[in-house]
Amino acid sequence: MGRLDGKVALITGVASGIGRSATELFMAEGANVFGVDRNEAAGQSLTKTLNADGRFQFFAADLSVEAACAAAINHCHNTYGRIDVLYNNAGIAIIEPFASTNAETLEQVLSVNFKSVFYLCQQVIPHMQRQGSGVVINTASELAIVAQPLYAAYCASKGAVLSLTRALALEYARENIRINALCPGPIETPMLQGEFDQAADPAQAKAEGIATMPIGRLGNPVEIAQVALFLASDAPALLHGSALVVDGGKTIL
Ligand code: NAD
Repeated sequence: MGRLDGKVALITGVASGIGRSATELFMAEGANVFGVDRNEAAGQSLTKTLNADGRFQFFAADLSVEAACAAAINHCHNTYGRIDVLYNNAGIAIIEPFASTNAETLEQVLSVNFKSVFYLCQQVIPHMQRQGSGVVINTASELAIVAQPLYAAYCASKGAVLSLTRALALEYARENIRINALCPGPIETPMLQGEFDQAADPAQAKAEGIATMPIGRLGNPVEIAQVALFLASDAPALLHGSALVVDGGKTIL
């Protein structure tokens, strides 16, 4: 018996990092995964790898566009007739001094990291209301709780995800829709490596990143996927409106 047997999970950002790991884990636990990403080539190769028994469907979409969020939810619902889990995972990080962060960059970060979560939740909740159940997992970050220089737009976008999650959890508390935020610390993914690579000395930047971790290492994508699986399963019935910080102790330093 898998922990997600027969459930339909829509996961965003499946082409890389945490989203890819979560896709594999959710499927191993019996879920049908409707994976959404803007990276169509990676999505197609993921389909070849994962779709042996027809439980993986890829949908190419740029979620910074509201209509694409609606299309993803509609397509998933038309395919399966229900959506049990919405795992909002897609995101981008832009490192830039606050003073030079222009309107275009701000809009890009807010659109992908925050507005897509807003629109996907808005589109999925009516389906979950009709079903009488549902789970929403919104990816914030440890940087929604603590701060880091050069990440002003990113921190603001993730803070907004956390606030939205709490507001929705309250608004739908009586409707059997469990809504929580997941706040990863530094996790070894292409996103984090890309951040290290922007430093003058990437190896030094990585060593400094590790030094911020009380456990003495960075996290692995599967360690976030495991927590997402727990949130998606029926086990945490009382977990609602929470911000689950999964960071190897970084934010207690
Ligand atoms: P990643 O870059 O490895 O993967 C992100 C995925 O999102 C990619 O496949 C990308 O194509 C997709 N994506 C980006 N913009 C998109 C768009 N407009 N439409 C559709 N898909 C889009 O990143 P990751 O490290 O796996 O991050 C996953 C989530 O975890 C993000 O929300 C990120 O902010 C958050 N997070 C990551 C870390 C970390 O250290 N890696 C820490 C805290 C939070």
